[in-house]
Amino acid sequence: MKISVIGCGYLGAVHAASMAELGHDVVGIDIDEAKIAALSEGRAPFFEPGLPEILQSALASGRLTFSTDFAAVGGATVHFVAVGTPQKPGEYAADLTYVNAAVDALVPHLKDGDLVVGKSTVPVGTAAALSARIYANNQTASLAWNPEFLREGFAVKDTISPDRLVYGVPAGETGERASALLDEVYAAALQNDTPRVVTDFATAELVKVAANAFLATKISFINAMAEIAEVSGADVTSLADAIGYDARIGRRFLNAGVGFGGGCLPKDIRAFSARAEELGRGESVAFLKEVDAINLRRRQRVVDLVKEELGGQVYKKKVAVLGLAFKPDSDDIRDSPALDVAVQLHGLGAEVVATDPEAIENSRKRHPQLLFTDNIDTAVNRADAIVVLTEWKQFRELDPVALAEKVDNPLIIDGRNCLDPGRWRTAGWTYRGMGRP
Ligand code: NAD
Repeated sequence: MKISVIGCGYLGAVHAASMAELGHDVVGIDIDEAKIAALSEGRAPFFEPGLPEILQSALASGRLTFSTDFAAVGGATVHFVAVGTPQKPGEYAADLTYVNAAVDALVPHLKDGDLVVGKSTVPVGTAAALSARIYANNQTASLAWNPEFLREGFAVKDTISPDRLVYGVPAGETGERASALLDEVYAAALQNDTPRVVTDFATAELVKVAANAFLATKISFINAMAEIAEVSGADVTSLADAIGYDARIGRRFLNAGVGFGGGCLPKDIRAFSARAEELGRGESVAFLKEVDAINLRRRQRVVDLVKEELGGQVYKKKVAVLGLAFKPDSDDIRDSPALDVAVQLHGLGAEVVATDPEAIENSRKRHPQLLFTDNIDTAVNRADAIVVLTEWKQFRELDPVALAEKVDNPLIIDGRNCLDPGRWRTAGWTYRGMGRP
């Protein structure tokens, strides 16, 4: 297939390279010249395991090119739209400026019979509106909505071998043709029996936000249990293990900690609330506001724990922050709980020194007031407290005995419950986890 991918960020760059890796001819388009220059040279503009390798092999095969010029989509039949849908400043709703601009820029280049495929996460009703916009310009082109479920850190694997495919298509022949084109694009995954749900636009749009709302709720549920554990002396980790053995509940996504962040869950649940209110059904997802509030309280809880253990205030105390990315194996700091906690501690007068294997550059651009080091030893040197905020392997495997020699005060706050409390306590540390005695 000849494919274009509009928007080459965390989703689009991986999609473009993966589709080329699968044998399709792909052109990636973005308005960010620096990003397109990097991608064209085989450099991934962000950290994603496996992306540089497939990027370089796809470029070498000649099946992958990048451009800032929309005219370059002319040779393609299927056009994926993967631009950002961030939260509007000062509002809960999603900002559709980029999606609308991308479709408007694409439309003049569509040939008869071309298929536009939405991948961005959008409020329900967006596809119907975009479809009308496309139809007004070209009555033979059509639209499908094909939400993306990739996880940063596993994005290449998730794109090449997705756990399901969802096609939102119009009724009738147009929809059948759209499904057939998407089946060609995803032929490799379909051969491996990947489940495929073919449905209407509204359902496809809702599938994505419902999935993220469910995941966010699961995380906030266990964090709510952590809050109760904290005032009752219970251990939320054992609780999660015990309820997780029930297959109807399941253990995954039941890790209490500093909460969720990133470029998806927080803004998606807020956009869902805003859209539900527009549709007159705000009460149906009113619980998502509570999910959000529980999540944000966990950041405060970490700050409070540091304060409590340092005698009530952190002013001039050296705090080593381990982790800045919103999750391990990513450099993404969008709405990162880790970075938020680092900034809060800095604001309270602590001498914060932060480290992260991949997210320092992005963090420094956003918060130049913080001190960063790429060396864990430098970060923890003479620290009054260490706070683990992203569960990178490097941090999970730290040696408490060796580390105790380097700090002024052996205090560790485990914001991700990713360390073994017994091991740290035996080595002489004061260990505080989230929802653990
Ligand atoms: P991103 O900010 O990393 O990438 C968006 C890209 O679109 C940027 O490179 C930007 O320059 C480009 N862009 C903006 N306007 C454009 C235009 N008019 N024409 C061409 N390019 C344009 O965002 P992302 O994380 O890749 O997310 C993109 C969408 O995918 C969002 O709707 C998001 O919710 C959804 N999504 C993301 C993930 C994820 O893990 N990142 C997973 C599933 C779904």
